Amino acid sequence: MNALPARFLDVLRDAVGDRGLSTDPADRDAVAHDLWPRALIAERGGRLLPGPDAVVWPAGRDQVAAVCAACHRAGVPFTPFGAGTGVCGAAIPVRGGVVLDLKRLDRILDWDLESGWVVVEPGLLGSRLEDACRERGCTTGHHPSSLALSTVGGFVATRSAGQLSTRYGRIDDLVAGLDVVLPDGTTVSLRAQPASGAGPDLRRLFLGSEGGFGVVVEVTLRLHPLPERRVDHAALFGGFAAGVAAVREALQAGLRPSLLRLYDPADTALQASELGVGEGGGDHALLLASCEGRAAVAAAEAGELAAICAAHGARPCDPAAVAAWYARRDDIGFAQARYLPLPGAVIDTVELAAPWSRLVTLHEAVRRRLGGRLIVLCHLSHGYPDGACLYFSFAGVAAGEEAAVPLHERLWAEVMAAAAEAGASIAHHHGAGLARAPYMAAELGEGGLAVLRRLKAALDPGGVANPGKWGL
Ligand SMILES: Cc1cc2nc3c(=O)[nH]c(=O)nc-3n(C[C@H](O)[C@H](O)[C@H](O)COP(=O)(O)OP(=O)(O)OC[C@H]3O[C@@H](n4cnc5c(N)ncnc54)[C@H](O)[C@@H]3O)c2cc1C
Repeated sequence: MNALPARFLDVLRDAVGDRGLSTDPADRDAVAHDLWPRALIAERGGRLLPGPDAVVWPAGRDQVAAVCAACHRAGVPFTPFGAGTGVCGAAIPVRGGVVLDLKRLDRILDWDLESGWVVVEPGLLGSRLEDACRERGCTTGHHPSSLALSTVGGFVATRSAGQLSTRYGRIDDLVAGLDVVLPDGTTVSLRAQPASGAGPDLRRLFLGSEGGFGVVVEVTLRLHPLPERRVDHAALFGGFAAGVAAVREALQAGLRPSLLRLYDPADTALQASELGVGEGGGDHALLLASCEGRAAVAAAEAGELAAICAAHGARPCDPAAVAAWYARRDDIGFAQARYLPLPGAVIDTVELAAPWSRLVTLHEAVRRRLGGRLIVLCHLSHGYPDGACLYFSFAGVAAGEEAAVPLHERLWAEVMAAAAEAGASIAHHHGAGLARAPYMAAELGEGGLAVLRRLKAALDPGGVANPGKWGL
């Protein structure tokens, strides 16, 4: 028997129609988790997630509103679900209830090519949006490695960053406006504008809200013209710190390469074999970069970048390495899927952010705390004038299957401690979800966490919108 009362299920059925509701175990399993490695490792060890009690597939924003209102009235938890590629457990319905699978809200609603805007529904897959943009000679510039398998609503709700964010910005920079169904079923429309100075920017409140403040039902995204030309640059530095110094100088000088990836020596060794460039062994750090836009500007920008790299002692490499990277740009993120099924395997990625003055310290702190027991790789990407993201991948094998989850927990605790030690942010673009819940106070401070708690209580007094996240 389903945990939800029959009368409540009838209300949901009235809201979304017979075919828009399921309590079938197979349908519930399909939306029971995202791709948070800890949950996948636990499942591998036989600990299945309980999942939701029902799944709904609303076909429009009115149906989303009706479902939220019903949950609010009945005190039943609900969790929005995009495509389930989140890697922090944010989409896991830890308290059961209803999952709102948004895949039927996948339309492109409007184009304003003069202003450079597109209006979309949240369940639209990133690659479908990008294909439609390209047909019109433009791009959002937002290209996470999961582009083909993740949704616009997911991007907004996790504050994702694409591979070319140094030039195009992260999703935060691309959202011009959005509409949200609040947890009680009322809708707020935050109109698209190029800028607005009227009080606090409420749009930002919903960026990274992971379903905790309601359901994003419409998003206006900014567009850029397709680049006329891309100029690639690859270089090998004598060490990671030298590469960091060069990248910092380039960004502070106003350069905005689209691709910007600086690999630490361990990752450089891997890239050397995968891309056929660089030198495995030693302290080398490989930079892969590209500049794009108007042909003359892209060429000039790449020239300046190359000059800065050379001034920091870098040796230029065959730029074909950059083309080789682009050719497999979306495979890279899925590599861990090959190893995760192996018994005892513990594998994950963690992205942190730090100002330039603490970036090398952060790199050293994470490597020191994780090193020895594991393979630890790191690259710098997503650069800003004042700092950058460090993206760590780690892999190891626990003493047995039962030791795998505790090992995963310990490794995360080590990385979070390293971030605290170096004064870094605990997250750059994967969100908070369950993975970072225990560390939110360290990030926001007790004062910040109290504000978050009060916002949550004000917008979701019944505590039904994706409860159990953010450590609240
Ligand atoms: C191989 C791989 C590569 C990846 N590469 C990148 C990358 O390059 N950059 C990056 O930033 N991330 C990356 N990710 C992480 C992931 O793809 C992103 O977090 C993505 O934004 C999640 O989108 P989704 O549609 O799958 O969301 P889901 O996982 O379904 O949901 C994520 C969160 O958003 C909430 N949510 C979803 N839709 C809505 C909505 N309409 N309204 C309110 N809340 C909503 C959910 O409740 C949940 O809390 C990668 C993941 C994988 C597996």
